Amino acid sequence: MPGLEDFAEFVKVNEPLAPHTYFKLGGPADFLAQPRSRAELAAVVKRCYQDGIALHVLGGGCNVLVREEGVRGAVLRLSEPAFTEIRVTDRRVNAGTGATLSAVISSAARHGLAGFESLVGIPGNVGGALRCNAGDRSGEIGQYVRSVEVMDERGEVYTRQRDELRFADRTSNLDDPVILGAEFELDPDDAEAIVKRMRRAWIQRKASQPLTFQAAGRIFKNPRGLNAAQLIEQAGMVKTRVGGAEVSDRNANFIVAHAGATPRDVRRLIDLVRTRVKERFSVDLELEIAVW
Ligand SMILES: Cc1cc2nc3c(=O)[nH]c(=O)nc-3n(C[C@H](O)[C@H](O)[C@H](O)COP(=O)(O)OP(=O)(O)OC[C@H]3O[C@@H](n4cnc5c(N)ncnc54)[C@H](O)[C@@H]3O)c2cc1C
Repeated sequence: MPGLEDFAEFVKVNEPLAPHTYFKLGGPADFLAQPRSRAELAAVVKRCYQDGIALHVLGGGCNVLVREEGVRGAVLRLSEPAFTEIRVTDRRVNAGTGATLSAVISSAARHGLAGFESLVGIPGNVGGALRCNAGDRSGEIGQYVRSVEVMDERGEVYTRQRDELRFADRTSNLDDPVILGAEFELDPDDAEAIVKRMRRAWIQRKASQPLTFQAAGRIFKNPRGLNAAQLIEQAGMVKTRVGGAEVSDRNANFIVAHAGATPRDVRRLIDLVRTRVKERFSVDLELEIAVW
């Protein structure tokens, strides 16, 4: 198999991915690339394309379940300072893909800029949040985007403007190989009022999601007009367990990984939930998390 030996300074071989995901499960990547500059990123992306090496991008790892066998090809992590910068100018916030959502929310609040409050408590990074249009019924990241910088498989950088972008329920048309960052436009507001709304959002999210457990985000998409968590509850699946994986009692669309859980446990529980919901309601649940 062709490799990425030329990039040994920032590419690790056979590197465990579990520590980089919220489930903390799964095997290694053939290559874990953590470039320190855009030039290094472009070089490794281009090489993967030329040599036919599969390329995956990992953000905060909140929406990814890695199998026992791990991932063939290269996994990119954009966590070095070149990718995590946050700049605030007037009403605009520019954030690098690897910046955590929480850092971006705090920066905006410190500058008296409102809009991101409802995202408080959502883990992950800017790149993942953009691709998955992170948010909830009270607001989504996509509504504040002015433009997004992306890289194609040849390492070329482009800017996609607002009018080319589509954001919908936990999804977007940002299917470019690498999201590099975005410019957001927010509304000036009283800093105290922003902080109050942030506190309220945090309390609500903490009460409705297993934030302190080893879990990924919502497992299934909401079927059109329906709520996956309610279907799973009504199918009697709350607290159902396979090995160390359990359907959360805080939100039935979350799976919690207890000590000793394996990726297989999680996948078998996913299959079981799907089967029960299909039997009971004739609804096919589609995965929202990515299984690598
Ligand atoms: C306890 C818990 C609660 C959550 N609550 C919510 C919630 O209320 N609302 C909500 O919307 N989400 C929620 N999530 C899900 C998750 O936090 C968000 O979807 C988050 O935005 C995902 O970001 P990430 O950086 O972890 O992405 P990852 O999980 O690392 O990646 C998600 C997808 O995006 C792709 N990707 C990531 N970065 C890039 C990049 N730079 N370029 C190209 N592709 C990229 C990955 O390849 C993958 O396909 C929750 C998760 C957890 C664990």
